[in-house]
Amino acid sequence: MPPVANSESASAPGARPGPARAQCPYCGVGCGLELKPSDPAPEPGPASWSVRGDRQHPSSLGQVCIKGATVAETLNHNRLVQPQWRERLDQPFRPIDWEQAFAILINQIQHTLASSGPSGLAMYGSGQFLTEDYYVANKLFKGALGSNNFDANSRLCMSSAVSGYARSLGSDGPPCCYDDLDLADLVVLIGTNTADCHPVLFQRLLKRKRKTKEALQIVVVDPRATATSDAADLHLAIRPGTDLALLHGIGHLLLRQGAIDRAFVDQHTQGFAALDTLWQAWTPERVSILCGIAIAQLEQLAQLWAGSQAVLSLWSMGVNQSREGTATVGGIINLHLVSGQIARPGTGPFSLTGQPNAMGGREAGGLAQLLPGYRAIANPAHRAEVERHWGLAPGAIAAEPGLAVWQQVEAMERGEIGLWWVAATNPLVSLPWLDRVRAAAQNCPLVVLSEAYAGTETAAVAHLLLPAAQWSEKAGVMTNSERRITLCPAFRQAPGEARADWEIFAELGRRLGFVSQFGFDSAAAVFQEFSALTAGRICDLSGMSHGLLADHGPQQWPFPQGCAPGAGQARLYGDRHFPTPSGRAQLVAEQPLGLAEPPCDQFPLVLTVGRYLGHWHTMTRTAHVERIRQRHPVPLLEVNPADAAHHGLVDGALGQVRSRRGAVSAQVLVTDRIRPGTVFLPMHWGASQEQACEANRLMHELGCPISKQPELKAAAVTLEPLTPEPVIQETPTLKALV
Ligand code: SF4
Repeated sequence: MPPVANSESASAPGARPGPARAQCPYCGVGCGLELKPSDPAPEPGPASWSVRGDRQHPSSLGQVCIKGATVAETLNHNRLVQPQWRERLDQPFRPIDWEQAFAILINQIQHTLASSGPSGLAMYGSGQFLTEDYYVANKLFKGALGSNNFDANSRLCMSSAVSGYARSLGSDGPPCCYDDLDLADLVVLIGTNTADCHPVLFQRLLKRKRKTKEALQIVVVDPRATATSDAADLHLAIRPGTDLALLHGIGHLLLRQGAIDRAFVDQHTQGFAALDTLWQAWTPERVSILCGIAIAQLEQLAQLWAGSQAVLSLWSMGVNQSREGTATVGGIINLHLVSGQIARPGTGPFSLTGQPNAMGGREAGGLAQLLPGYRAIANPAHRAEVERHWGLAPGAIAAEPGLAVWQQVEAMERGEIGLWWVAATNPLVSLPWLDRVRAAAQNCPLVVLSEAYAGTETAAVAHLLLPAAQWSEKAGVMTNSERRITLCPAFRQAPGEARADWEIFAELGRRLGFVSQFGFDSAAAVFQEFSALTAGRICDLSGMSHGLLADHGPQQWPFPQGCAPGAGQARLYGDRHFPTPSGRAQLVAEQPLGLAEPPCDQFPLVLTVGRYLGHWHTMTRTAHVERIRQRHPVPLLEVNPADAAHHGLVDGALGQVRSRRGAVSAQVLVTDRIRPGTVFLPMHWGASQEQACEANRLMHELGCPISKQPELKAAAVTLEPLTPEPVIQETPTLKALV
């Protein structure tokens, strides 16, 4: 791979920048992009850039979806270019300089430390961070400030996958790679609309399906028919919240068919007896009734599983965003372990990450219970290793895991948080029960928002706005779902006074007196310190540097010191040794619990939420792309014909969805592609959008007790008509869905 046009600092204003290669800053597929300046930069305005897929990126081989292809159109829109401040939320913001901004931060940090101690400080970061941002933020909060209250929006996305992998296999880390899509003969997609949410990966699967036909079987488990299920040989439209029962039902049939790999179970796992007992009770009849599917469908899936040479499971938020997310991840891994469908090419339990660098966040310790290098705060030896590496006194890192994001919200309600610092995310759209989040934030004396963009919903509850440089304006790395790390160079000038997040955190650290700990002079130096801390860990990437990535292109970990470029490991656990105390994987036997908020007489339907192909999360960027706006101009409330008739809703009219926490309205799409009893809304449209439809306003806060991931995929709701007649024109999204 040719060298990347990399630099720590972007081109001078007005200069004609060179071509650059980077990972796409949207989803966790992590496609390679090649960006070229399309025009000489106008004086003094920013250059425009053309984007195409990078054919030399090993994860995507030149493929790109509409989001990646249009990312350059989003970079200059609506930017936050100067720090801004207001003492009270009913005041307008006024511009300030960075000196004043740091003074406000330091004053509040010192005041909070004196009055409440370190637990009064909290940060909520983002899978949009580069790994260097994550690392320095963690070092600042968990190291210098002594507060483990650093959490990230990955909590909403894949923390159940983290805890599920760790519990069953002994460590976080997807054991598979994208090449496994080309080698499996059965691919089970459960709780993932891959076609819309991980489109380039899905196209790879589709291409192979067209070529190999019956040699590849695709099974989709989703209450809703989607572009993903359209490509499936078998679609199991289960009731929301019954995934774990379905998995146990497959286990029951594997037992009945004698399709257990006894040698693998005996040599490489523990806990089979308890699982055997549990599975005996999950008969096809019981599973069929609970999941709302035919026994024949369940049997077909079990037969496919038992008869396939290589089974690959893919999942994302449909599994993770559940009150039993960790248990369901364990249920998927159980099936792979008992059938020996793991640690071989084409096999394995493969969690697809939502955010572009949520994987990098996991590596850098970017959740409230983690430390860098897949270490746990609860582990005294891990804390001591990190304290030594950070040059801090023993005991500097608090022994208790910090507050996950919903716990941060609850702590703000109780008045226990003196500083809530939100960075590169928009929780006033993406968290559940938005009215409660808003009220909690309003109860916090200082809410800081580091953002690249102006006017997000979260800015409405902030006192201090800090302009952040974004992807393309700062150097750093991202890790995609297959553990591949790509260097993303700074190839554009950050606007105004915007600064890289890691630079802001490091500057604050120095001003707080931690001069030697935060003396980084470049992102490459940050990465060097971080990568050294991963040596000997399962996510060992100590052999990588910015220079190596620039010279040799993206690399997969494990990549220890001395590893040759291209020699990182594509798969984990090839030796069948798992990083548990016994070296064996743990089978987990848990009874399904169902939904935390099941439907009832007053709220008889289950609302599930999801994403559209073109939009990214809270639309901070994609709302500015005309092609995407045209494709998805409005949010659509998908309702089964029987439910629409029962509640008096008409296709194309406006309908209201109401839960125990509030109500939102949207254009109704009557479609039999969603099962009766379930309705769907996209989660993208926040309060600032013209067609506001805050789907997450309706969702409850209850989540998985292990992963602390909220059950954002299901809440009990009811429907009411708002208009008797159709009001809005047909849209491309609507055409695609009908
Ligand atoms: S599939 Fe994901 S990573 Fe690839 S171009 Fe699309 S949004 Fe970007």
